[in-house]
Amino acid sequence: MNLVLLFPDDFVEDNRVVLRGRRREHIAQVHRAGAGDSLVVGLIDGKAGSGTITRLTPDEVELVVSLDGEPPPALPVTLVVALPRPKVLNRIVAGATSLGVKKIFLVNSWRVEKSYWKSPRLSVENLREQATAGLEQARDTVMPKIELRRLFRPFVEEELPGIAAGTTALVAHPRAAAECPRDLEGAITLAIGPEGGFIDPEIASLERAGFRAVSLGPRILRVETAVAALIARLV
Ligand code: SAM
Repeated sequence: MNLVLLFPDDFVEDNRVVLRGRRREHIAQVHRAGAGDSLVVGLIDGKAGSGTITRLTPDEVELVVSLDGEPPPALPVTLVVALPRPKVLNRIVAGATSLGVKKIFLVNSWRVEKSYWKSPRLSVENLREQATAGLEQARDTVMPKIELRRLFRPFVEEELPGIAAGTTALVAHPRAAAECPRDLEGAITLAIGPEGGFIDPEIASLERAGFRAVSLGPRILRVETAVAALIARLV
């Protein structure tokens, strides 16, 4: 936790917060901080700054906070990810959030196991928890928007062209003839396939929606590795 994320309910006065539970434990046990120590803090969807501990008890920690800085700039990338297995989902949401992605669509595709859609990890609470971990990791405060689309075809045919309009729209596909570009200017919409990859008709649908299939080369990467490698290369 490189930033302690604050929520409006934490405030007991304009510049004073009281934290309990996970954040109190982390401050006491990982930061090993005590009264007088300062930590990096940030208000959800707001400013970042610092907080000085004024009281630490076995149940709560109180900080006086000053919020006058901006969070790091957002990445101009919208991710469209075929729903991965639940364990991997957590890593992708936290990882993409830490990289600065602010919009993620989790979509169905032919090779997505149907059971993944029943996972409790798709709950709003879990997605928010994973995104919070990514924000805390990267000292960011701005929560990404994460949306689920259980039907590939209507999403790709009716909604995705509008989402991708005005952006460089790419679908990562190991067998694509085109090499993935580097250091693009402007906004990007990036589609990533499931563990088994997109099937050919899905690639064709994405191409009709304005996407270009690009490859990172012959190495087949895990989905979470591919997300990080693609973003690092494109932005
Ligand atoms: N056997 C699958 C295939 O050939 O498509 C491999 C899928 S890979 C484990 C999961 C996703 O990560 C792919 O659909 C793609 O979006 C991305 N990916 C992995 N390695 C890639 C590469 N070398 N180039 C482009 N995308 C890659």
